Amino acid sequence: MVKINVLSSGSSGNAVVIETAKHSILIDDGVSFKKLKCLFEKEKLSIDKIDALIVSHEHSDHISGIRVLLKKKPIPVFVSDLVAQYIEFPDDFENMVNIVEAEKDFEIGDFTIKPFLVPHDAEQTFGFVVFCNGIKIGYASDLGTYNEHIVKRLQNSNCLMVEFNHDLDLLHNSSYPEHLKLRIASRIGHLSNDQGAKLLSKTISDETKAVYLMHLSKETNTKEYAEIAAYSVLQEREIFFEITNHLEPSKPFLF
Ligand SMILES: [Zn+2]
Ligand SMILES: [Zn+2]
Repeated sequence: MVKINVLSSGSSGNAVVIETAKHSILIDDGVSFKKLKCLFEKEKLSIDKIDALIVSHEHSDHISGIRVLLKKKPIPVFVSDLVAQYIEFPDDFENMVNIVEAEKDFEIGDFTIKPFLVPHDAEQTFGFVVFCNGIKIGYASDLGTYNEHIVKRLQNSNCLMVEFNHDLDLLHNSSYPEHLKLRIASRIGHLSNDQGAKLLSKTISDETKAVYLMHLSKETNTKEYAEIAAYSVLQEREIFFEITNHLEPSKPFLF
């Protein structure tokens, strides 16, 4: 069994749980401990079961909850050395920090995880491929563009988690300052619905059983627009499909 729970995705905070019967990992923790506990309880998950935390990059929506989580539940953290510097670890935590590098697999319980670099305006940002019990999960949230390497990493995933951050027209017509609009739309910002759909079209296959649209902006996107963009790719395919929420769990998927 492999179960995927997206507890929260987007600028309000990110937290994704992947679990097997025995093991469980958390990808990013950008929500308060109180909120995280509440999200876990809503999904009948246990924080005590989490074996490790994996961190994609240092933006606060991905790391702001880490310090308190680790104080309450000291678990190993897997993070790049560049990003580790931004995390406030509890005292005497050094030997719980595992530095990981792009393209180098590491293992946690039943899981083998391969981080890969994605272009984003952080020190270093990872997408992840998670393998467990014969299932491959591809995670790419927070990236400004994609390249052939990223496509290759995500191909043949049984579950694809791909960013659909904004609608380009809504972004241009938003009240955001010009520099922020440029940043978001840049090659180191976030994927638009159209870019997300293109990435999905290049990576989806008959192996793909589930798709999560990740990191939707509240201000410059709507679920309807994201769904229309994704539908151009999904169409006839019978695939579990879920648009993720801010601080609200999505429907879990069970392999
Ligand atoms: Zn983010
Ligand atoms: Zn980010």
